[in-house]
Amino acid sequence: MNEIRNVIIIGGGPAGYTAALYAARDNMHPLVIEGFRWGGQLMITSEVENYPGYPDGVLGPEMMADFRGQSERFGAEFVTDDVTRVDFSEQPLRVYVGDDEYQAKAVIIATGATARQLGLDSERALQGRGVTYCATCDGAFYRDLEVVVVGGGDSAMEEASFLTKFASKVTVVHRRNEFRASQIMLDRARANDRVEFVTPAVVEEVLAGEDGKMSGVLLRDLETGETRELEANGLFVAIGHDPTTELFLDQLDHDEAGYLVTKYGSTETNVPGVFAAGDVQDHTYRQAITAAGSGCMAALDAERYIAALEGHAGTALTAPRPEAAEV
Ligand code: NAP
Repeated sequence: MNEIRNVIIIGGGPAGYTAALYAARDNMHPLVIEGFRWGGQLMITSEVENYPGYPDGVLGPEMMADFRGQSERFGAEFVTDDVTRVDFSEQPLRVYVGDDEYQAKAVIIATGATARQLGLDSERALQGRGVTYCATCDGAFYRDLEVVVVGGGDSAMEEASFLTKFASKVTVVHRRNEFRASQIMLDRARANDRVEFVTPAVVEEVLAGEDGKMSGVLLRDLETGETRELEANGLFVAIGHDPTTELFLDQLDHDEAGYLVTKYGSTETNVPGVFAAGDVQDHTYRQAITAAGSGCMAALDAERYIAALEGHAGTALTAPRPEAAEV
């Protein structure tokens, strides 16, 4: 365990496994500390239709197993456990899993973000069978169906407007009469005939039909306390995301919401040798394909960093090209 590795990748989602694939094919023998529940947000997704290369679609967990297997084929090693502490104060960088210490010249952080959940048992039970956290990913499954969006921020407004491209009716349920969303986003959603607002109200339960799929929600009016059922085929929970960055906040630059900050056009953080990829540093796109793309960037950035550290910068795949020199 005291061997100094080239690169340790923290996180087992699209960004982490893509970084592992590139690092492994580049002979960097990466160690992926993938987390006890590897796979990330795709593990609570059913069908994925927007990942290029799967023309017939693929189940989220199956796709993550494919990603993992592909990096394993080229020699990536895995620790299926959670990182508990990191020390980036000096080289080699140190990563701990309980009492086990791992050392590396470079670390790629790809711990992702989690969509906030309402916290209902029925919500968990119907994830992937009506309950979803991503309109971009799942909106197209609700053509001519009725859906509910929960939330009062920009995401909820954006998703509500977007979903009217498919759904016959979109009901926005928000717990207050005031909205956190910007006026322009709120106005756009309000101006849409297919969007209806129910406030102040909460979803108290997600209801299942005989087929095991979602059939509606139980709403509670927060002014009167009354409950009523609303038929719907989909529930889009849009109440925000939390990046998984707690372990790094005291050592790495981050924004107010806790997302890691990387240098423009790169995956470099403020600590040399530490790179961040995927949703942990992206609160805009949040797609498997963009996470995978930045995982690739992180592996190439790490390779270049290690080559420079070892005094042979020119051998890196992404070595500075004379023709690309700044003018
Ligand atoms: P957000 O601004 O934090 O809003 C979360 C919303 O969910 C709030 O209305 C909140 O209600 C509600 N909520 C939180 N927990 C809840 C719970 N347990 N039950 C019911 N409701 C709950 O998150 P966001 O909308 O994802 O936006 C995040 C950031 O991205 C914001 O800065 C936003 O402006 C930005 N964004 C921008 C765009 C754009 O400009 N195109 C699009 C999307 C997001 P309360 O208001 O009562 O707290």
